[in-house]
Amino acid sequence: MSRFFSEKYASLDPYTPGEQPRDRRYIKLNTNESPFPVSALAVREATQAFERLNLYSDPECTGLVKTAAEALGLAENELLFTNGSDEILNFAFMAFCDGEHPAAFPDITYGFYPVFAEINHLPYEEIPLRKDFTVEIADYFNIGKTIFLANPNAPTGIALKRAEIEQILIRNPDNVVVIDEAYVDFGAESCLPLIREYENLLVVQTFSKSRSMAGARLGFGAGSAELIRDLRKIKYSTNPYNINSLTMAAGIGALKDREYFERNCRAIAETRAHTAAKLRELGFSVTDSSANFLFVRHPAFGGEELYRKLKERGILIRHLSKPAISEYNRITIGKPEDMETLLRTIKELLEGKQ
Ligand code: PMP
Repeated sequence: MSRFFSEKYASLDPYTPGEQPRDRRYIKLNTNESPFPVSALAVREATQAFERLNLYSDPECTGLVKTAAEALGLAENELLFTNGSDEILNFAFMAFCDGEHPAAFPDITYGFYPVFAEINHLPYEEIPLRKDFTVEIADYFNIGKTIFLANPNAPTGIALKRAEIEQILIRNPDNVVVIDEAYVDFGAESCLPLIREYENLLVVQTFSKSRSMAGARLGFGAGSAELIRDLRKIKYSTNPYNINSLTMAAGIGALKDREYFERNCRAIAETRAHTAAKLRELGFSVTDSSANFLFVRHPAFGGEELYRKLKERGILIRHLSKPAISEYNRITIGKPEDMETLLRTIKELLEGKQ
């Protein structure tokens, strides 16, 4: 820290992104990216956008918002696009939390939530999950806080049903409930159809996972026109040009290519089911994941140990050091052949233990 760094950030503990090593080629199963390339339609749209790179990007994201509104069955003023969903999550912390409206989220969830709370100097409560990593919805009833729930949750992959989230919405009429649907397309129920019914609901989605656009940085929030107006105020007070022209164009192409998107989501769900079954056969406990990753534990391996041994063999998975889950690993679902390599390598590691 330099002597110029503001004291107000002295205790900030930043988010640690998953490794993106460049030293050798790995089978990358550590950051929940898609193993499939971005849609060819997205490439075509983005290529055309190069011709207009001398101009600022459209701060209103006119074409993207129009295409998304049609694709999702929403009105244009019910949507706001951001630089990855991380940005709209940060905006939501800024817009809807303060001393009287602290944030609340599970103690095991997306690791960025406490960082967003900290950087904005917001009070927050971490509500324990049940022992089996499920959310006890009653813990969120009438708590007088702005609620953030990843659904499916990360890193567990476990999803709440839409009807359960509705119970939380009904019982917090005076607080915003943010449902982070980064992984919803792989098999959970989206809350998008509820935004007209509940003025306190903000749904957040990303193009990083199911639409193969992690490197383009595109996410959005969907909610009542009033909530979106609040978030726009934050956007126009920080970075009006938060979406670059290439990403905006690629987003339009990705939304138009619905068939490719649906096919990829189906493929991930099938590979997930197959991989989970094989891992269970090998003695792993595996949570019931609706996401593009599995959350696993093996009695013969520490979480750090399995991560390290697989890395030595060219396979990257995620190990999170938080004590409650340090014996677990999160494994992204890749292509079937990559999952076969993973399974074969784990089998060899287990044989080596005998
Ligand atoms: N929410 C959750 C639950 C995530 O796991 C991630 C991915 N790290 C994000 C949001 C942010 O994704 P992005 O900024 O790439 O849209």
